[in-house]
Amino acid sequence: MYCLLIRLIVSVSLNTAWLIIVLLTTSFYHCSCARNFIIMPTSATTSYQPTTKFDPITISSFKAYDIRGELGVNLDEEISYRIGRAFAQILYQRYQAAAQTQADDVATLKPAIVIGSDIRHSSEQLKQAAIKGIVDAGVDVIDLGMSGTEEVYFATSHYQALGGIEVTASHNPINYNGLKLIKEHSKPISADDGLAEIQALAESGQFTTDNQSGKLQLLTDKSAYINHVMTFIDTDKLKPLKLVVNSGNGSAGPVVDLLIDKLAQADAPIEVTKLHHAPDGSFPNGIPNPMIEANRVATQKAVLENSADLGIAFDGDFDRCFLFDERGEFIDGSYIVGMLAQAFLNKYPSESIVYDPRVIYNTEAVIEEHNGKAVISKSGHSFIKQVMRDSGAIYGGEMSAHHYFRDFFYCDSGMIPWLLTIELLSITGKTLSELVTGYIAAYPSSGELNFRLTTHDAAAIISAIEAKFSNEQPIKSTLDGLSLNFGDWRFNLRASNTEPLIRLNIESRGDQPLLAAKTQEIQQWLATQGAVPA
Ligand SMILES: [Zn+2]
Repeated sequence: MYCLLIRLIVSVSLNTAWLIIVLLTTSFYHCSCARNFIIMPTSATTSYQPTTKFDPITISSFKAYDIRGELGVNLDEEISYRIGRAFAQILYQRYQAAAQTQADDVATLKPAIVIGSDIRHSSEQLKQAAIKGIVDAGVDVIDLGMSGTEEVYFATSHYQALGGIEVTASHNPINYNGLKLIKEHSKPISADDGLAEIQALAESGQFTTDNQSGKLQLLTDKSAYINHVMTFIDTDKLKPLKLVVNSGNGSAGPVVDLLIDKLAQADAPIEVTKLHHAPDGSFPNGIPNPMIEANRVATQKAVLENSADLGIAFDGDFDRCFLFDERGEFIDGSYIVGMLAQAFLNKYPSESIVYDPRVIYNTEAVIEEHNGKAVISKSGHSFIKQVMRDSGAIYGGEMSAHHYFRDFFYCDSGMIPWLLTIELLSITGKTLSELVTGYIAAYPSSGELNFRLTTHDAAAIISAIEAKFSNEQPIKSTLDGLSLNFGDWRFNLRASNTEPLIRLNIESRGDQPLLAAKTQEIQQWLATQGAVPA
């Protein structure tokens, strides 16, 4: 098992040397013409050579929405190759069928798949294997080089590709990695909507073999993406602000640099202190995961030392962005949703905003105050994106620090939220703590509390808690787990999709003692059901 892991890590050094040469060549190439890209023969770039015989295997790293696995256990180059090839074959067959019937707009797309990878040492190797799988399926590849997930989202729509893949393990331990897949127009793929079909083909190894090899384009120029992200704010409105940006040595640093360059070109008076900025797959300052409190300390300290107005931290593939106020306080994600809703509604009144049912009082109050339309959705990116498409919502946010934008192809971005925040701070003339502390006091919440199930299953606990509170006649919703709303307080209890866990969120309307009492009551009751704090 570990042989595969060691092979992956050792072979990456060879590949990195090659990559540096290509990146240097590419940046030289791009300085005169941003839209040119190098077209390289496949054999010069894909180091992975697959076996010629594909026996059926089981791939246990397929999850409900993506592929996540442990290196050398249920994720390696062969699995990545098979996934790339199966994904490309299925998308290409759909494209060919659409081209014949002209029945849907897939026919107007390019038979290409966009791919990117984060800075993790194993990511480049897995990406090369997936690229080989895609070109062997006869589909072209646009390789973005080292990039964040949102760059794949952007490029898939921008270059009108059939789909996209980001190789990333985000904030997970070093011996893990994964593949995030999207289809045309950067739409999500879930198990019941294509991912199971990809898994079945990847496992069977029954690939078509009569294809011409696809071509590989290395396109590391980020200017179209950067220009698009910058359209979310008006740089003329920006006032002098000091920022601390902690990229956690993940993939965010180069994109932050390009955005800061754009702000400087626009004469925006923004001063930036950079922490753990250089991408480094050995993660010398720990895995980039700002949800871990110990990882927040460096950002908090730097905010105070630099008298900064805002602290910003990213996870490994920067699809999530975490904010700290001018006192160095970490702001819970649910209040950021309210703040960004406000940022949009100030500029675009009466638009729709999508949010999830875990914590709702604050978001609903902000939307009502700013004359927006509140649209609730089950949590999880595929549900939020679909509800946003259906309602045309301008913005959707989850307490998990995922923020989605209609004008970013209904996808999540970790860069747009902090740009909107500096614009909002400038326009309102308020500090971040002034913007959120009133709301935090008005709608206090417990934060997400996780419990491990030891005796009862989640469904049994959820029906038992409903029975326990039935005589209080709360308003009930089963949109996502169970939500019971008692008017002055509410809770949401839902099962984890992937682990034997149950997740609890409680909130109240301005009544901290009531929140504390109800949190304690439900925690004690959960203990009687064998649910212990995780
Ligand atoms: Zn992430």
